[in-house]
Amino acid sequence: MSWTYTQAAGIITTVCVYEDLLFSASFDKFIRCYTRQDHKLKALYYGADRGLVTQMTVIDDKIITGNRNGIVEVIPVNRDKETMCQFEGCCHVFGIKPHLLSHVMSDHVTPDTKMFRCLWRGCKDWLSTKEGPQEAEEHMKHHIFT
Ligand SMILES: [Zn+2]
Ligand SMILES: [Zn+2]
Repeated sequence: MSWTYTQAAGIITTVCVYEDLLFSASFDKFIRCYTRQDHKLKALYYGADRGLVTQMTVIDDKIITGNRNGIVEVIPVNRDKETMCQFEGCCHVFGIKPHLLSHVMSDHVTPDTKMFRCLWRGCKDWLSTKEGPQEAEEHMKHHIFT
């Protein structure tokens, strides 16, 4: 029996089966968590150092990932409180909130920019990253963690 998970962008470096879940790490730096029963994408995670994952195993509800710089990071598997990105036009769902923050900061926040609009649902604030990402990060933390 075989099937194709089509959401992954690029080469898959490692896959791992854990109970009813399947994890795959891809060149786009996302770890994708699927349900094995229906092959549906359940949530995204990041691996060690938020970079390319070269090794991965899942045990005791923890994803253990390693990268080519020798960094190993342990990430909790979250089964029920997944968190969806609320940016306009984005529907990425993350397993844990710190990973949603990393995604928002790298994919929705423009670095070194005097003024840009926050497009988080219900927010139209103007942000600046001219002096660094701290102000924008505090703003996004407010959206995600409160
Ligand atoms: Zn997003
Ligand atoms: Zn905002």
